[in-house]
Amino acid sequence: MPSGLLGLGLRCRAGQAAVRYLHSVYQSAELPETLRMLRDTCRDYAEKELQPIAAQLDREHRYPKEQIRQMGQMGLLAVEVPEELGGAGLDYLAYSIAIEEISRGCASTGVIMSVNNSLYIGPILKYGSEEQKSQWISPFCSGEKIGCFALSEPGNGSDAGAASTFARLEGDEWVLNGTKSWITNAWDASAAVVFATTDKTQKHKGISAFLVDMPTAGLSLGKKEDKLGIRASSTANLIFEDCRIPRHNLLGHPGMGFKIAMQTLDSGRIGIASQALGIAQAALDCAVDYAEKRLAFGAPISKLQAIQFKLSDMALALESARLLTWRAAMLKDNKKPFTKEAAMAKLAASEAATQISHQAIQILGGMGYVSDMPAERHYRDARITEIYEGTSEIQRLVIANQLLKDYRS
Ligand SMILES: Cc1cc2nc3c(=O)[nH]c(=O)nc-3n(C[C@H](O)[C@H](O)[C@H](O)COP(=O)(O)OP(=O)(O)OC[C@H]3O[C@@H](n4cnc5c(N)ncnc54)[C@H](O)[C@@H]3O)c2cc1C
Repeated sequence: MPSGLLGLGLRCRAGQAAVRYLHSVYQSAELPETLRMLRDTCRDYAEKELQPIAAQLDREHRYPKEQIRQMGQMGLLAVEVPEELGGAGLDYLAYSIAIEEISRGCASTGVIMSVNNSLYIGPILKYGSEEQKSQWISPFCSGEKIGCFALSEPGNGSDAGAASTFARLEGDEWVLNGTKSWITNAWDASAAVVFATTDKTQKHKGISAFLVDMPTAGLSLGKKEDKLGIRASSTANLIFEDCRIPRHNLLGHPGMGFKIAMQTLDSGRIGIASQALGIAQAALDCAVDYAEKRLAFGAPISKLQAIQFKLSDMALALESARLLTWRAAMLKDNKKPFTKEAAMAKLAASEAATQISHQAIQILGGMGYVSDMPAERHYRDARITEIYEGTSEIQRLVIANQLLKDYRS
């Protein structure tokens, strides 16, 4: 196994490096050396340890337990977490690059990593007390334990403010009732950040966030969903029936839940954009390799203009989306607003992944349609990036709202 990120001694200090990054990205198209080392480490790991087993994990719906443990040792399960809490202490651009490389090897592993980093650890790092950070973050850095994020419900996904899961305070305990749906990592998680209404009169301002150990009495899991793609990551309902948790498991203050969820998703979208980039890159790699080797009418199909036009459109979509994703990550690292940019990144990268994987199948012809080649898996894996952490329609709403606000002010 390659050495960990901590072993590389990488330190990407937020703020000071942005101008250099921008310069290097736009002028010389080279990343700074520390990020190239990170990218190469993750790429090497993904090529050796993930790519060879990705098809089997997908076929067997199998959680990559050993690989997640190795990635934890490398610092990849807690990229942004300070070293004193057990993380790698890197920034979000580093995180984006790492997720892309891991997803290029295996998109399921990419989403498991993304949920633990952005959706589970992210809000605790931002809103947790010191005690909560040591209890709920440090054990989730090593890959031995992973977390999940429970916002969606059977009756509401895009309309997250309409949560019907309810939490009432009884003495020193919160009592949770309701069902959370589509929860990534559910079957493999040791804890969840759960959103529940604590004051129905306040609508979305009456939602609060809670930290819940898994397993816990009163919390059961639904069936593992049989999904189109990312099949090595588990997805299931969390069902709360008079589930009692200590009063101090509230994250932030009562009524802060919706704000915590929306801010968490802003960051999470950079992770999903990066996952989509990895899937798109893998599909392009596969298409180029095949086009160079496949002969038709006595020459490689890569010599055909029709194929070359497809390849150039694929590369254009991928590289544009990557720049948008890095820009969103850099804005976050510099503590600048990034809601619109994260939505743009996710929209561009997820649509690029869908289109690129679709075109890769076309370039492979019949071989694109069977599971002997990875193109069909990339196509199936790409599709979810247009749905979770806000559908493409919701990303367009976020972009338009912010755009109009900017013009009006
Ligand atoms: C594999 C998978 C993993 C997931 N992981 C998680 C997780 O870990 N945690 C979690 O909390 N959730 C998770 N989700 C849930 C996911 O975030 C929701 O499925 C998603 O937000 C869409 O919600 P919905 O399915 O209820 O669709 P709906 O909200 O019912 O939307 C249906 C359609 O209507 C459109 N629509 C809805 N409202 C509008 C609007 N205002 N304007 C325009 N169009 C609109 C949507 O874009 C969509 O096309 C996951 C889902 C899947 C499939």
